[in-house]
Amino acid sequence: MPSLNQQIFIAAVLGLAIGGLLHHVGSASVTYEWTLYAANLIASVFVDLLKMVLIPLVFSTIVVGVANLQANKNIHQVWKVTLIFFVSSMSLAMLLGLFVMNWIRPGEGIHLAMFQESMNSFEYSKMNPAEFFTNFLHSLFQNPINALAKGDILAVVVFALFLGIALVVGGERYRNILNIFQEFLDLMMRIIGWIMLIAPLGIFSFLLKLAATQNLEILTTLATFILTIIGATLFHGVVVLPLLLYAITRKTPLWFWRGAREALMTAFATSSSNATLPVTLRCTQEKLKVRKDITGFVVPLGATLNMDGTALYEAAAALFIANLAGIDLSLSQQLIVFCTAMIAAMGAPGMPSAGMVTMVLVLQSVGLPVEAIAILLPIDRLLDTFRTTVNVEGDMIGSLIVERYVAKIDTVFGD
Ligand code: ASP
Repeated sequence: MPSLNQQIFIAAVLGLAIGGLLHHVGSASVTYEWTLYAANLIASVFVDLLKMVLIPLVFSTIVVGVANLQANKNIHQVWKVTLIFFVSSMSLAMLLGLFVMNWIRPGEGIHLAMFQESMNSFEYSKMNPAEFFTNFLHSLFQNPINALAKGDILAVVVFALFLGIALVVGGERYRNILNIFQEFLDLMMRIIGWIMLIAPLGIFSFLLKLAATQNLEILTTLATFILTIIGATLFHGVVVLPLLLYAITRKTPLWFWRGAREALMTAFATSSSNATLPVTLRCTQEKLKVRKDITGFVVPLGATLNMDGTALYEAAAALFIANLAGIDLSLSQQLIVFCTAMIAAMGAPGMPSAGMVTMVLVLQSVGLPVEAIAILLPIDRLLDTFRTTVNVEGDMIGSLIVERYVAKIDTVFGD
């Protein structure tokens, strides 16, 4: 029996191959219809199962993570290193995105007529950075019961942070409650182990759907842009992030890939950092062996805030739209794109195509036509796979790097 990792890999390859074949058979046939129906059903059950454990898991992971971190004298360092890592790795990703777009300049000479119709019917809600920021701030502090029920991850994260800190400040008196959370977390991890048994089937179905339903005509029209984005995203994921990891922790990319692949494949297939979160936590703790308190803090926070792939994409796509519109963005305008893309990526929830929604903010910031998002929508399902994978990779690498720094500080100052 192949290992779970091997099964997932085989399932991914088979899913893409069979989906590609199905695409040839054509959407009119009964086989196509039924296979797609079955794939849809299995894919959605897989994601539903992951979402089922998501909120209880995030909640208990953070409470326990923070409570245990607080016990460590270096909690301030963990906060700082985590946030510095998030901002620096996203900045690197955006610089890379802007660099390749300025170099390759895809988008010049594309016939816009093809997209005119969808652009006319495209609707969007106006956003300005101040409003966006106010909304973002409001969304942080909510009635926890409401946030838990709605599955609003960021608000759940914030409440869990408060609760974790309160538990530690309260000390011995709340020991029992902390123990209950700890046991509860163990139970969730057990359930995730069961859900992972059907991960190969879920990933197979997702990728089959993706390959069977892609619109090839649009893919070829926008080929240069698509290849530029995929190339830059992969470069960040395969070269930049692993280099950072190696430089700071001396862990090799191969070692990382072995431990992280379940999560990376799940992210690729589902295009959702949130849905992947249970798997990310499992891989970071059990395979990459990062301390539970650090994983519990960095990974859930990173799933909503740390999005290298999304930041790269939002910055690059703004330049693409400028090229299509025949506008040459100046250096200072590109600086604005850089800053708003950072906010937009941090504000995007870890859901499929969430980056497309916050993209409006980036386009508006430099006066680009927002309707042009209609051009990006048909290719988003494909690009989202890559950027979500790199988003999740960034969270796992971030945990390893934060752990390394905290260990260093521990040895210098003593525990
Ligand atoms: N799908 C991405 C994620 O979940 C967000 C995005 O649309 O960029 O990480």
